[in-house]
Amino acid sequence: MAIWLASSRVRLYTREMTASSVSKSAPKVGIVSLGCPKALVDSERILTRLRAEGYEISPSYDGADVVLVNTCGFLDSAKQESLDAIGEAIKENGKVIVTGCLGVEPDVIRQTHPDVLAVTGPHQYEQVVSAVHAALPPKHDPFTDLVPPEGLRLTPRHYAYLKISEGCNNRCTFCIIPSIRGDLVSRPITSVLREAEKLAVAGVKELLVISQDTSAYGIDTKFKEEMWYDRTVRTRFLDLCTELANLDLWVRLHYVYPYPHVDEVIPLMAEGKILPYLDIPFQHASPTVLKAMRRPASQEKQLDRIRKWREDCPHLALRSTFITGFPGETEEDFQFMLDWLKEAQLDRVGCFKYEAVDGAKANELPGAVPEEVKQERWERFMETQKAISAERLQQKVGWTLGVLIDEVDEDGAIGRSYAEAPEIDGNVFLNGETTLKPGDLVDVTIEHADEYDLWGSVERVI
Ligand code: SF4
Repeated sequence: MAIWLASSRVRLYTREMTASSVSKSAPKVGIVSLGCPKALVDSERILTRLRAEGYEISPSYDGADVVLVNTCGFLDSAKQESLDAIGEAIKENGKVIVTGCLGVEPDVIRQTHPDVLAVTGPHQYEQVVSAVHAALPPKHDPFTDLVPPEGLRLTPRHYAYLKISEGCNNRCTFCIIPSIRGDLVSRPITSVLREAEKLAVAGVKELLVISQDTSAYGIDTKFKEEMWYDRTVRTRFLDLCTELANLDLWVRLHYVYPYPHVDEVIPLMAEGKILPYLDIPFQHASPTVLKAMRRPASQEKQLDRIRKWREDCPHLALRSTFITGFPGETEEDFQFMLDWLKEAQLDRVGCFKYEAVDGAKANELPGAVPEEVKQERWERFMETQKAISAERLQQKVGWTLGVLIDEVDEDGAIGRSYAEAPEIDGNVFLNGETTLKPGDLVDVTIEHADEYDLWGSVERVI
């Protein structure tokens, strides 16, 4: 073997890694580092990260479970040296991940060495680490790791929130979140997917995707591409949903705005890959009020969009929240919202009376609505929606639905179907089912409904 870590400086580094530091059980990564000091620092960062995750660094090809080749692509001779190093690593070990400057020419690498497991470019630490995870999953050591691999959570074991971004690029006039949390910053998609995988391995059955504006995911990164296993994924709403669908658990989308590209995920829902459920905070329906609110996607033809979604995915459950009494809301605006609501036939709806928030632009708007008018509109709104919800739930009597159990007490079990998110929607009550456990999935035939909840009997435990 000519080189293990190619530069002389790097060779010194390997000497610190004695065979005795390599434990029998930990996954072992070898690295061949070529090129300039910047590439060397990249190698050090990658190794540091992997070491922190419990990987051992192997000083030889045959002791490694996977080999990273950090390449140089500066000159033709450097490219050739990199290709030769990849070839040697494949010959000596077989499992090879390529990163570094030559990684910007994946075709050149794959033409010469079609067996490489993954190719990532320079400074793509997340992607390299993801590729290592994919080829060689990290081991969790319960004796030394204080935190379980899926992190500490405050939710029950069977469901978890998956936060995909922070901040928001919108400037709704009633909201001060952007001034508190700043503009949208999307998490790298591989980081989100890795967290989702860990949650799945930890036994989570339902992932609730959250952010301030889920459908805007990745806009700030210009839909940056990353390597995930053997494929390229974009930091984008559709790619995220497609990859989460592969985890074979319930995936529920919250805080989605009805932008046109949301249409792209409806087929995933129709095919049963993610839950046919969308939480869309419409907040109002009147174009005048939406404009005053400066709501995102307010110009989209929302009713047409809902109609089309339901054509493509007939059981789609829609939940939303609304505000009554926003400054300037007239009786016509309010009536427009009620008519819209009857037309939209949303499944679950929450409604708030407008409250001024310190620092919000809406405070400067004229036409404050008196409290008693807000209250009266709120009551009319709730009455209207109650009737709609009751009718929609009634239609489910006789259906068989998958239900995830949240709680069991002496009276029976309480769970939710695809159409109910925890905490905010209703429940499915299974009277007498005291032997089920939280996290069980059961098929339930619905026998009774009111305006909020369903009741049924268990057909089978899945
Ligand atoms: S979308 Fe509007 S309401 Fe939601 S966080 Fe952003 S600014 Fe606030």
